[in-house]
Parts: sequence; structure tokens; C-alpha cells
Amino acid sequence: MNGIVFDIKRYAVHDGPGIRTTIFLKGCPLRCLWCHNPESFSPLVEEFYQEKRLGDKVVQDKVQIGKKYSVTDLVKEIEKDQLFFDESGGGVTFSGGEPLLQIDFLETMLRECKAMDFHTVVDTSGFAPKENFERITKNVDLFLYDLKQLNNKEHKQLTGVSNQQILDNLSYLIEQKKNLIIRFPMITGFNDSKEHIMEMIKFLTDLTYQSEIHILPYHRIGKDKYSRFEKENRMPDIPSMKEEDTLWAKELFEEAGFRVSIGG
Ligand code: SF4
Repeated sequence: MNGIVFDIKRYAVHDGPGIRTTIFLKGCPLRCLWCHNPESFSPLVEEFYQEKRLGDKVVQDKVQIGKKYSVTDLVKEIEKDQLFFDESGGGVTFSGGEPLLQIDFLETMLRECKAMDFHTVVDTSGFAPKENFERITKNVDLFLYDLKQLNNKEHKQLTGVSNQQILDNLSYLIEQKKNLIIRFPMITGFNDSKEHIMEMIKFLTDLTYQSEIHILPYHRIGKDKYSRFEKENRMPDIPSMKEEDTLWAKELFEEAGFRVSIGG
């Protein structure tokens, strides 16, 4: 069985506990306005031509985004970092794109990783059929789960999709008592009102979630990738958010009993 990977990040320290190897699976059904990885949108291997200067000449350079890996080959790549996992309490993180889009490959990779006793994290938008979550939960030690906007109409404007499935899957994972961390990408003018934060607190508390939240302040990195990879740029023309701009929201979550950090 093969999967399409668009990046492998070694020594990652923001994608779960310890030192991790993060595997970025290609393909995402969402189109978040702030996405830093537009090269992840298509589930296929893609080729682009980019201009490159060689002395006084400009040449067309072919760039391939995405590479096909067999389960065996990807496990071999991950195994190279086992020493770091053992020493730091780290492991492997599957991110994207949306990793559950390649569910057969993801399910098999997670099974293989658990057979080798690696700690496993899945970083997900939550936008996938519930059956896909049911197939993987037993082999996932921690979910990093995005919660972007509770109002469905605004969620569609922000991401291109409804939030219903995302909220239902979150409720399912909490019922299953899975370890999870909520990741909240905070975007000026889109989901950063006090009213929305209070709604999130009520929603999570009603689900009996009383754990950890990571606030991810909006920043405009990756803007140039849209033209490089021939994707429509819908990134809002607003300044990046600073950590201090999010402190009031952190305080509100903390007052409600959540453990909160800012950034990864
Ligand atoms: S879910 Fe992640 S990868 Fe997909 S569009 Fe949104 S930010 Fe980009």
C-alpha cells in the first residue's frame, strides 16, 4: 500500500510531546483562508516550474510536491529517529493536509508504529467520516484537534466546509475518553470576539472537555506559496497577530478551568 507524503519534518517539538518526526500527508478537503500549506490541497503528486537564476541566466526549475511512499519505506524513515523518541518521550505525528483523507494508509501506518511502540499523534481538522476516526482511535495516543469557528455559516466562509461533522467527531472522541488537545487558530475579525470565546468555553464544557487548549495566533507566513504553487490566495489582508493580542482569550479559557498555551 502507498501513501502520498508532501513533507517529513524531523526533530519537531511543537507537534506533540518530546522530539517528534512529523509526516505530512498530502490532500485536504478544506480551504482555510489562512492556510500556510497550499501545496497540501491536492491529494496527488504535483509538478511545478519555477524560475531560478544561474549566474546571468534564468532557467526553469522543475519542483515536485509530494512523494509516494510504501508503508515499509515510510516506517524505515521513521525508525531512523527512534533514539530521539526514546530519549525525549517523543514519537511520530501524522499531519497534513488532512491525514484522515488517506485513511487506509494512515490506519496501516498507525498500526505499524504502535507495533514498534512509538507514541502516535494525529493532527486533524476533524473533517472526515466518523468511521474513519473509529478505524484509527485505538492506535492514536493523542489527537491535536482544530476548532476554528462554532457558527456554521462563518465556518463555511472561513474554511469552505460545514463544521457539523467536525463537532460531531469531537464529541465522539471526548465520549471515547481519547487524549486530545484543542488547537484554536485565532484570526483577527473572524473568530476572535469575546462572544465566540465564551461560546467555545460553553460548548467544550458541555461536552465535559476540561483539558488543554493551544491558541495559534494568525500569521501571514506562506503567502508567497500561493503564487508559486498556482493556488488562489484567499489569505486575509490583515496584520499577523502577536502573542500578547491573545492573552485576554487565554485568561478567559484559564478562568474556565482549561490549561492553555499560546503557539504549537
Ligand atoms: S485544514 Fe489545515 S491544511 Fe487544510 S486548508 Fe485548513 S489549514 Fe490548510
